[in-house]
Amino acid sequence: MTADLWRLPAAELAGAIARREVSAAEVVESHLARIEAVEPEVRAFITPTPELARAQASDVDRRIAAGERLGPLAGVPLALKDILCVDGVRTTAGSRILGEFVPPYDATVVSRLREAGTPIVGKANLDEFAMGSSTENSAFGPSRNPWDTTRVPGGSSGGSAAAVAAAMAPLGIGTDTGGSIRQPAALCGVVGVKPTYGLVSRYGLIAFASSLDQVGPFARTVRDAALLLEAIAGHDPRDSTSIPDPVADLTATIEDGVSGMRIGVARELVGGEGFQAGVTARVREAADRLAALGAEVDEVSVPTFGYALSAYYLIAPAECSSNLARYDGVRYGYRAAGAADVVEMNSRTRAEGFGDEVKRRIMLGTYALSAGYYDAYYGKAQQVRTLVIREFERAYERFDLLLSATSPTTAFKIGERADDPLAMYLSDVCTIPTNLAGAAAISVPCGLAEDGLPVGLQLMGPPLSEATLLRAARAFERDFGFLPAPPLWGEGAP
Ligand code: GLN
Repeated sequence: MTADLWRLPAAELAGAIARREVSAAEVVESHLARIEAVEPEVRAFITPTPELARAQASDVDRRIAAGERLGPLAGVPLALKDILCVDGVRTTAGSRILGEFVPPYDATVVSRLREAGTPIVGKANLDEFAMGSSTENSAFGPSRNPWDTTRVPGGSSGGSAAAVAAAMAPLGIGTDTGGSIRQPAALCGVVGVKPTYGLVSRYGLIAFASSLDQVGPFARTVRDAALLLEAIAGHDPRDSTSIPDPVADLTATIEDGVSGMRIGVARELVGGEGFQAGVTARVREAADRLAALGAEVDEVSVPTFGYALSAYYLIAPAECSSNLARYDGVRYGYRAAGAADVVEMNSRTRAEGFGDEVKRRIMLGTYALSAGYYDAYYGKAQQVRTLVIREFERAYERFDLLLSATSPTTAFKIGERADDPLAMYLSDVCTIPTNLAGAAAISVPCGLAEDGLPVGLQLMGPPLSEATLLRAARAFERDFGFLPAPPLWGEGAP
């Protein structure tokens, strides 16, 4: 059994560990062997952390042997996006400028994971500073999609999603500023949750766009994602935007089904220009399935969502230009050598340390915030943000949840959109409205498109609707089942 432990979802593994049928150490070794076998093809990790994982696993085994009752995920391996600080472990944010940065503290999410006993098997690849939709903007090279290694896993949390899809870990942590958990989840055929802004602490998360960034879970089942979200959510006095209320129980109602739930199909985010036919077809079938399960499903038009993408690509770069000002060669990370004075040192550090996309965002953001243009760009974008929030509020007068595609297309080829920022930005058209509203959403696999690649169903809800979202996603998953295992799994389904 031990050799095949990597095939099992998190809740099953944790159960077997708690019952002492297997040890956390054996579970970790099985996954480390799996990583050794498939990582050369997938390249999900920037920094593998086998020693950290082994130490955490033996700690779990010791505590279980001592009779301690641990959390419901204790001993289950996890891939951590390399944008969350781990004390003593290199944390790069996918950037050359932090290529040798070793933080002296843990992010709150990491402290929570240590308490939960989820061994961290590696720091997962991402687009530089989480800016991108494919991981091609990583200074460490792209990750590959386990369904087809000539294709991207999505991004920016593509390494975490690919690691979970390739079964190098049953759990992953990503961040979602404009879709960076949900879009890679969709493209890799796994579950991803973008929690309500403020539900999960951002302390120790390297900032991209502070009014949008959120940390959230990846898993292969809805229940595993719910358990991981419960483990990391909750108030943190070190993050001033952290929600003070206690976190709702996310698993208590997860099997309660969708009977009577009102679900609105967000027409503009299901089909039309730019949407792949197979994506639209699978998402429509998913809506029919939810209706057959007892949900009241109806169409709703959300026309202002069409402006959300443009607003996001002003607001996020504006915030990024401010957040990334701290990388000056003095306080953090890389410093260009041999400069004549501090001005030259600063400008060469940034020229050499940042990649093209990050520079593009800093320039866009600086421009949008500059005196004389502020009202026309940043100010207008904030007004659009308010319109999007109002559109959601109107929709939630009629519906409990909204339904759409997660991504308008399946995974694209590595290189296909690399030189076309606009085509890349369009990957986020379905996911961005939720970030602008500070609300919650989930992506759950809903089938394969005509090209044989996974399609994600997105369910969106108002702030703090996670329990409802997970319940609806679980009802869908229970009825639909799971995708076949990607070819990389070899013989035998999950
Ligand atoms: N793809 C979007 C961007 O490039 C979203 C990224 C994210 O959510 N971190 O900004």
